[in-house]
Amino acid sequence: MNALQIVTRKIEPIVEVQTKVIDHMTRYMVGKGFKWMLPVMLSSITDPLWPDPAAEDALKPPEVEVYGSRLRLTHSMILHKQIAVGMGIDRLFILSPNIRLERGSADDGRHAYEFTQLDFEIAGASMDDVMGLIEGLISGLFKEARDWGLEREVPKVRPPFKRFTLEEIKEEFGSEDEASRLMKEPFWVTDIEREFYDREDPERPGHFRNYDLYLPEGYGEVSSGGEREWEYEVIVRKMKKAGIGLDAFRPYLEVARAGLLRPSAGAGIGVERLVRYMVGAKHIAEVQPFPRVPGIPAVI
Ligand code: AMP
Ligand code: MG
Repeated sequence: MNALQIVTRKIEPIVEVQTKVIDHMTRYMVGKGFKWMLPVMLSSITDPLWPDPAAEDALKPPEVEVYGSRLRLTHSMILHKQIAVGMGIDRLFILSPNIRLERGSADDGRHAYEFTQLDFEIAGASMDDVMGLIEGLISGLFKEARDWGLEREVPKVRPPFKRFTLEEIKEEFGSEDEASRLMKEPFWVTDIEREFYDREDPERPGHFRNYDLYLPEGYGEVSSGGEREWEYEVIVRKMKKAGIGLDAFRPYLEVARAGLLRPSAGAGIGVERLVRYMVGAKHIAEVQPFPRVPGIPAVI
């Protein structure tokens, strides 16, 4: 696409749907007593996004030299969310812009290298608390959207959504994406071995208290979250096991070592992915006024 093709696309109705989606989500969170934080975009620490079975390779965030120190563009605000809970902000959310220079994921229609997630964290919460909260948000949104005059129909959904472990999904459908293609309603995938901060079940080592929400009709993953690790020794052991250098997380580890991280659980919901589903777009770039497709440099 060249600059003129980008400018002459019919994007305004999509931005209107996006406005309604963000309006619904932020009203819901504020109504549930969440504090609205602003994003951090440059930091000495960020999400390693690794190991993640959904990622093809480890990503390196772009770095910027700022006042003599190296800061990274944030992949996500997971570490800042945990530290903010440590500051005493018990229920928080952020509309967080993330930069992820992923390779090889442009074809599945749901990857952009710059996107925004509604990211939230709750002190002392369990996975059931967070899954229930997201189910309330999504079912309320789908209900409200029936009055928006959308060109497609979103399903009537009622909590609780179906839950599968990743193992069950693989046995029953082969893969999460295949399950998404066959399902008619959103569903959960739980117990996924991935980044160090997602909590391993202390009673069932090798199992994980985390969850992804999948949209039906092949739209795939729209949210990921988990209960979190907060104990210094556990975090360090899991970082070492994943082959992650501790040096890149120094202030986070300092806070953890001082015992200032607290138990919490949370999740992030991809705004563009949700809008893509609501309008029935084939590719996420169609809902971005300024498309950010992996592997293709941005025109504007
Ligand atoms: P994660 O915790 O990494 O799964 O990110 C949280 C949510 O952000 C995901 O469930 C997606 O909805 C969204 N997201 C993650 N990566 C991308 C991407 N490359 N493009 C668009 N949305 C994304
Ligand atoms: Mg995910």
